[in-house]
Amino acid sequence: MALSGLEIYKILPRTNCKECGFPTCLAFAMQLAAKKVSLNKCPYVTAEGRSALESAAEPPIKLISIGRGDERVEVGNETVLFRHEEKFYHPTAIGFLLEDTASTEEIKRALGEIKKLDFERVGQRIKTDIVALSCKTKDASKFQALVKTVVENTNLQITLVADEAALIERGLEVSRERRPLLYAATGKNFKEMARLSKNYETPLVASAPTLEELETLVKKIKAEGVENIVLETGDKDAADKIWDLTQIRRLALKKAFKPFGYPTIVFTKSENPYQETSEAMTYLTKYASIVIMKGKMPGQILPILTARQNIFTDPQKPLQVESKIYEVGKVTDRSPVLITTNFSLTYYTIEAEVESSMVPSHILVCDSEGMSVLTAWAADKFTAESIAKTIEKFGIKDRVSHKNVIIPGYVSVLSGKLEEESGWNVTVGPKEAAGIPVFLKNLNK
Ligand code: SF4
Repeated sequence: MALSGLEIYKILPRTNCKECGFPTCLAFAMQLAAKKVSLNKCPYVTAEGRSALESAAEPPIKLISIGRGDERVEVGNETVLFRHEEKFYHPTAIGFLLEDTASTEEIKRALGEIKKLDFERVGQRIKTDIVALSCKTKDASKFQALVKTVVENTNLQITLVADEAALIERGLEVSRERRPLLYAATGKNFKEMARLSKNYETPLVASAPTLEELETLVKKIKAEGVENIVLETGDKDAADKIWDLTQIRRLALKKAFKPFGYPTIVFTKSENPYQETSEAMTYLTKYASIVIMKGKMPGQILPILTARQNIFTDPQKPLQVESKIYEVGKVTDRSPVLITTNFSLTYYTIEAEVESSMVPSHILVCDSEGMSVLTAWAADKFTAESIAKTIEKFGIKDRVSHKNVIIPGYVSVLSGKLEEESGWNVTVGPKEAAGIPVFLKNLNK
């Protein structure tokens, strides 16, 4: 847990010698607490004090990477229980279970289905991240063949699932370059699993049915020299799982309980696809770092990816698009000019409706600090003056041969003043984006 300035001050030498560049040790401690200076600036801090300060500076939940390079998945390193307290940093990885009972053709088909679960929403790419490869048959050759097929046919990150270290090792032989997550060390096999994790430098899941047993297991795995751990509490109903996940997160953040300072993994249980979606969504919100599912229908997965995108954005910074002129379709100098704000959801809703109207148009986006039309207007961020300045700033007059702009129906009140400020003719558009296609088609009739 992060130390306060006063707690840090008590650890410093308190001689106020000023060598760190600050007038007092307290001033230095305050800057250290705010993470604005390095501890190295104080040459007199004792080895004991340094160790206490450095361990306090460690993240309460360790960041774990699965895979390598740009495609790697990073989970953990969260700092708050509730998104509004700050933000959540590393989006829950969404993945799918594939078993070695399936034929090679079936696996390739499944990977093809997973590849299609890649969508664009409000200007961002949202997609799934991982596949969990399960050795159901207990046949090492079949398991290795499954892993090989997956390695050769997808860039998704990999989790190897087997209860015997010997089986996991066969999978590792053909996937070590991908640095897979190993599932799972238990009370029975932790020594062999820890050996694999260290030898192949891969992260390892610690799985135990109760929190008490999980604490003991994590300590044993750490004693074997494994640092990159992911936590799991076995096969349980969703309510019990949520309880475990919440306790793990609370203990890690509020009590700085080191054995639980790791990300978590959950496998969904529901056979019904709709229930599975709601189960996965529940784990996503509280507080799973990796969710492995069975179903992979787009209708199941898109809501989960959408929810994840919303939850893992900064609540204090609305998603924004760049303020500029956008062209939709093959515009000419006679194309209409629509004005809107730079809140992503607003912009992409407008863009989609303009596109569906088949009327090529310019969209002039004003900087409203990421607020939607009505909110920005109420906050004085979308005014006649600011719109007039945007019209001038981006030189729309050089792109069109008319002097007409269309403003959203909800801010019709701005039309008179905007005409005065800008010298352009203002047409009031529809209040709802859904009205844009009909509006544009009838514009010049
Ligand atoms: Fe205090 Fe260290 Fe700064 Fe000197 S260098 S004022 S001892 S914090």
